[in-house]
Amino acid sequence: MLSVFDLFKIGIGPSSSHTVGPMLAACRFADLLVQQGVLPQTAQIKVELYGSLALTGEGHGTVDAALLGLESNTPKGIDPDTMLPRMQQLRAGAKLRLAACHEVDFDLARDVQLHKHLFLPQHANAMRIKAFAADGSSLLTKTYFSVGGGFIVDEEHWYQQGEPAEVAVPYDFHNSAQLIAHCQRQGLTMAQLVMANECVQRDQAAVRQQLLEIAAVMQACVAKGCKHEGRLPGPFAVKRRAPALYRRLEAMHMEGRADVMLWPMLYAMAVSEENASGGRVVTAPTNGAAGIVPAVLQYYRDFAPNASDEGVVDFLLTAAAIGMLYKMNASISGAEVGCQGEVGVACSMAAGAYCAVLGGTLAQVENAAEIAMEHHLGLTCDPVGGQVQVPCVERNGVAAEKAIKIAQLALLEDGEHLVSLDKVIETMYRTGLDMKNSYKETSLGGLALTVAQPEC
Ligand code: SF4
Repeated sequence: MLSVFDLFKIGIGPSSSHTVGPMLAACRFADLLVQQGVLPQTAQIKVELYGSLALTGEGHGTVDAALLGLESNTPKGIDPDTMLPRMQQLRAGAKLRLAACHEVDFDLARDVQLHKHLFLPQHANAMRIKAFAADGSSLLTKTYFSVGGGFIVDEEHWYQQGEPAEVAVPYDFHNSAQLIAHCQRQGLTMAQLVMANECVQRDQAAVRQQLLEIAAVMQACVAKGCKHEGRLPGPFAVKRRAPALYRRLEAMHMEGRADVMLWPMLYAMAVSEENASGGRVVTAPTNGAAGIVPAVLQYYRDFAPNASDEGVVDFLLTAAAIGMLYKMNASISGAEVGCQGEVGVACSMAAGAYCAVLGGTLAQVENAAEIAMEHHLGLTCDPVGGQVQVPCVERNGVAAEKAIKIAQLALLEDGEHLVSLDKVIETMYRTGLDMKNSYKETSLGGLALTVAQPEC
């Protein structure tokens, strides 16, 4: 069974599958060099990126993430402000500090290869890391797949995915029907059920504390994004809009003429801009879609009567329950199913969670989650210039507002609906499989094709 902490992971921008996953994979490779006792003999490292990781890797910081991961940095532990200076050193010829302690010669052009037109059969996001001794003999080779949301799987375990969980939980569920049946039988909300499952591995107070820590990182990201002036990295030097929007909205608010629904749009854009600039964010369930859940959560804190820490915990647990259904039955990877699997899933999680903390019944929560995905079906992933900026930042803003409206709509009705959440998840996955590769985080189609790169 997945954990709520698989869905919400504190990390760095701009991409869970292109930055967080590759850094974790490279860090694991460095650990393996140590465990297998071959670190001292290692004289050279080669990193090979395939498919989507190669095509959009530059804009998504994949190369930087992989190299810093080889130096034993983790997405949660690294200080985002140290990344750029360290990469400047490596690009200028500094030695690579494997596992943070063993230096090897490093040449970016020689040691990193981008196989832009080669896709490995298992997944669009693949990377292979090789370690060699001084005489050129191979010491270790591993292939990893970054399957979305910062999850990684190595080649040896690829076909074991989906096997029964090692840790038995009281309420095992694999689809929405099973989740709701457990809840009805036990008289639990989705949040209570997920909490009961989490408590197999740690006590309730620890789960609650960790969730509040995640909520605090989300909140800090909203606040930072609303203040952080300047331009986003990359060839387009896209202007950060959240600070000016924040000032304008505050002024309108003082005059009593601010549309309250502009706040969640602003919050989501603020987080997305932080993400785009490599800042500290929480995958929710991915980095590209990291603005939506925090924005709706912030809106709950700001505007819901009786908002409380308990409500925040319930919000995250419910959102995670919904996110798990997508992870188990479809995909949360833009490279696999397009943006419907990122922004669509985040909107579904936020709509269901917001509905739940406003007192929605199980049927209303399911309905909200289903509506949110139904109207993202077919959404493609076409980041301009391979950067998680356009259309991603605005798309997060629009989806946050949509999630709130959808929850409110579901609360006005009795929860009876034709299309079940399970059916819409299945439809999303089939639609994603039918989608051409050019619309799946390759920057070969859509806006990425029609918006030209600026001349240098
Ligand atoms: S278009 Fe959507 S899936 Fe693609 S990078 Fe942007 S947010 Fe992620």
